Amino acid sequence: MIEVIDVTRIYQMGLVQVQALRGVRFRIERGEFVGIMGPSGSGKSTLLHILGLLDEPTSGSVIIDGVQVESLREEEKSDFRLNKLGYVFQDYALVPELSVQENVVLPAMARGISPDVYLAESEKILNQVGLGHRIHHRQYELSGGEQQRVAIARALINRPSILFADEPCANLDSTTSRTILNLFREVNEKFGQTIIMVTHEDWHEEYMCRVLYMKDGIIEDEKACVLRR
Ligand code: ADP
Repeated sequence: MIEVIDVTRIYQMGLVQVQALRGVRFRIERGEFVGIMGPSGSGKSTLLHILGLLDEPTSGSVIIDGVQVESLREEEKSDFRLNKLGYVFQDYALVPELSVQENVVLPAMARGISPDVYLAESEKILNQVGLGHRIHHRQYELSGGEQQRVAIARALINRPSILFADEPCANLDSTTSRTILNLFREVNEKFGQTIIMVTHEDWHEEYMCRVLYMKDGIIEDEKACVLRR
């Protein structure tokens, strides 16, 4: 469970202060697939970065699975990220010199998992995301949708309890976007992973349990969604 209590984030730009989050408060239950929507500049990415322990609130608190995350020391935060959180970004962020499989195993290597285990696990996950035939390929040999599936496989290798996705379909056509969204929903339903996804496409609601709407640094509204089957 994620609890966000009165979170603010102020960016200091020289003499100017930008108030990106102005008191955000909500809860997300384990296993929910939640969307964050809102106009550009409303604070979506800032909120996602704070929830993902990639940034800190100026004030307020984030509690994940009972842990008040801002009280963790830096190494504890790294462990928390590695063990509990997975990330998918819009630009895929793959290492071009490495093969698909080598990209996917990186977070497992960082965790000190043995090669036998992470190689077998990466093959399993790459099959699940439909890339079993591409494991020795490199980024330049893959389509945008395939690259995003590699990034998702990499985010899943450590079986994180929470997956964060920041506009994962931003560079993809609608057919490929549906493949990616179906994949998210599959891992959400099969493995009970909590998914928090920033998007600006209204039709993505079909895949989510709930949407939080942001405007000017606050959650302005929220809506339960009807899942498309
Ligand atoms: P969104 O993801 O909804 O487009 P952001 O969270 O990126 O919104 O940005 C919210 C506000 O904070 C915007 O006014 C943006 O210009 C500002 N902002 C975001 N990141 C930074 C930063 N690193 N430094 C200064 N201002 C920032």
